[in-house]
Amino acid sequence: MFDQALRILKDVFGYDAFRGDQARIIERVANGGDALVLMPTGGGKSLCYQVPALLREGLTVVVSPLIALMDDQVATLDELGVPAVALNSTLSPEAQRDIAARLERGEIKLLYLAPERLVQPRMLNFLQRLGNIALFAIDEAHCVSQWGHDFRPEYLQLGQLAEQFPDVPRIALTATADMRTRDEMIQRLHLQNAEQFLSSFDRPNIFYRIVPKEQPRKQLLSFLTQHRGDAGIVYCMSRKKVEEVAEYLSAQGFPALPYHAGLSNELRAFNQKRFLNEEGLIMVATIAFGMGIDKPNVRFVAHLDLPKSLEAYYQETGRAGRDGLPSDAWMAYGLQDILLLRQMMQSSEGDERHKRVERNKLEAMLALCEETRCRRQVLLAYFDETLPEPCGHCDNCVDGVETWDATQPARQALSAIYRSGQRYGVGHLVDILLGRENDKIKSLGHERLAVFGLGKSLAEDEWRTLFRQLVARGFADVDVDGFGGLRLTEACRPLLRGETTLELRRDPKPQRTRGNNSGPSAASQLVRSEERQQWEALRTLRRKLAEEHGVPPYVIFPDATLLEMLRGQPRTLHDMGRISGVGARKLERYGQAFLDVLADAPAALEPVADVRHEVITLVRAGMTPPQISRQLSCSEKNVYSILAEAIARQQLSLEQALELPDDLVGEIQDAFLEEEGDLPPAAALADRFADQVPVGVLYCIRAALAAELAE
Ligand code: ADP
Ligand code: ZN
Repeated sequence: MFDQALRILKDVFGYDAFRGDQARIIERVANGGDALVLMPTGGGKSLCYQVPALLREGLTVVVSPLIALMDDQVATLDELGVPAVALNSTLSPEAQRDIAARLERGEIKLLYLAPERLVQPRMLNFLQRLGNIALFAIDEAHCVSQWGHDFRPEYLQLGQLAEQFPDVPRIALTATADMRTRDEMIQRLHLQNAEQFLSSFDRPNIFYRIVPKEQPRKQLLSFLTQHRGDAGIVYCMSRKKVEEVAEYLSAQGFPALPYHAGLSNELRAFNQKRFLNEEGLIMVATIAFGMGIDKPNVRFVAHLDLPKSLEAYYQETGRAGRDGLPSDAWMAYGLQDILLLRQMMQSSEGDERHKRVERNKLEAMLALCEETRCRRQVLLAYFDETLPEPCGHCDNCVDGVETWDATQPARQALSAIYRSGQRYGVGHLVDILLGRENDKIKSLGHERLAVFGLGKSLAEDEWRTLFRQLVARGFADVDVDGFGGLRLTEACRPLLRGETTLELRRDPKPQRTRGNNSGPSAASQLVRSEERQQWEALRTLRRKLAEEHGVPPYVIFPDATLLEMLRGQPRTLHDMGRISGVGARKLERYGQAFLDVLADAPAALEPVADVRHEVITLVRAGMTPPQISRQLSCSEKNVYSILAEAIARQQLSLEQALELPDDLVGEIQDAFLEEEGDLPPAAALADRFADQVPVGVLYCIRAALAAELAE
């Protein structure tokens, strides 16, 4: 049996070995046993029923909640040469009759159905009459849970399959792992005899990074420069913000589409389809964009707002990297996020118990943000899984985390809240601590408070960080009436009384002084620059074939397969057949075309235009020319001349390009304008300003002047 399964894996799917529990699951099911499979996204659930479907005599019925998912799977199987169909309400009556006839003739191996369709008496009778059902596969089985977000009442009726088809094995699959959902699946789907297969929920290919929010858009942009050409999702909380961010990204040269519940159905479907079918699109979305997004090569998920719980964070970030290739989960979070979510929870409907649960979930999310240990260890621990060692693949592991004894400043901050009457926001509290005698302070008499001016040992942004951390840790809270004022909580008493101390993580230095806080990441190294041209050529061919066949590109070949071609450089069909993901059918159909591309498009250097674009994006994102030079491995002189050129073409203003004191700029401008007639070349002034600025700066200032004079 095992040999046969392995042969199918190789011949049909083109893979060499089973992953994780796949072999054991397949064996169990192929031998007629029930199974409950809990495996993370990207773990390879589909093969767990597709291989048994091919091993067993008869028809496998797959229940799936979304039409888009079914169509995707059917297209994938079709490309592999496996006869599969989806029956859904979008088909014409003739097409449905045609499928019924093919089913009766036993021509089809896999039938995909929505649950509501399967449980119609007519359908059940039809399947009974066929009499050759090999297997029922229930995908997204957590939809049976009434407590989850994805509850589908129709799933409740799937329990009857156990009585109606007592001899047919059933396999239920989900990426949702918690105990409660697991118990519900067993009860409601009548899976008491199912063997349980519980995988680790770690997603080792995802790099996690959480940064303090400073200038979120610029931070996002600088993160995205590492993902040029990649598909990804940017999550925002509100519809308005979705629209704004999508527009902003598009204007900055990152093709982005909006997705939220306020858009018409047609537009949403259209944008979703584009996201699936095109390469390198960014979806800016509310959490309305989610289940059913099976695009395997989502290279990053960015959060501009804080999710409400770790469950949500895990699920949303988990949409990255289903194909197992390096991917990034990036989030910027700040005090406003916490205040907003807390306020929303306080003012929401619902009983106290429910609110308490929600609050606890938010606390766990906040704890992850302020965490000093390995993020992955903490995340998995929340789902009751132990990762024995730090992962080495998250920001905390890679950058290290500095902590400091914040006891004294924390007491001062709490005392500032208390003494000013527990009604002011962070801005005013910081003014008090720093001893700023502005109008508001004076009109309130706050310069007479004991804490006034006591906090000069910390800078403004350090105080802001501290307040965020105090709120995140529950020492202070936002007032319910909603002006964003802070008040103390019970939890801060021991600290104020001097009974405990407080150790906090130090925020990484802001972008300008330390490269950029998107830091090292996994995905930016997916293809090296000297490989890019060939990579693009392979992707172009894939896109062309996908269009011809009316399927998304990843159905032709997943990225992992293209990447293996790129690295393995097969020269013959025989070599091509050894690439993982190239099964017999695809080898026959596409092997030669891809070989031709590999032979025709030799590896070459990255086109110059790309470097230009990246320099401009990075400088807009707040990086200095020396930092850009390091990041792009491009000489400083080159960076300056690219900037000067962009200034001349008015793509950039001088202020955007360089941060210089105004009087120095004035002095240099005057020097250029000293002589009548044309501006002198920058080199003519190089010696004069040699101690003050690199000559590249002179190029830029000259370019700005020239542009101004030309107007
Ligand atoms: P899930 O449904 O669990 O999210 P999929 O079934 O979509 O995961 O599989 C994720 C990716 O991994 C797919 O591209 C699939 O082809 C690939 N895959 C699954 N099993 C294997 C395997 N044994 N070897 C190589 N690739 C695999
Ligand atoms: Zn780690």
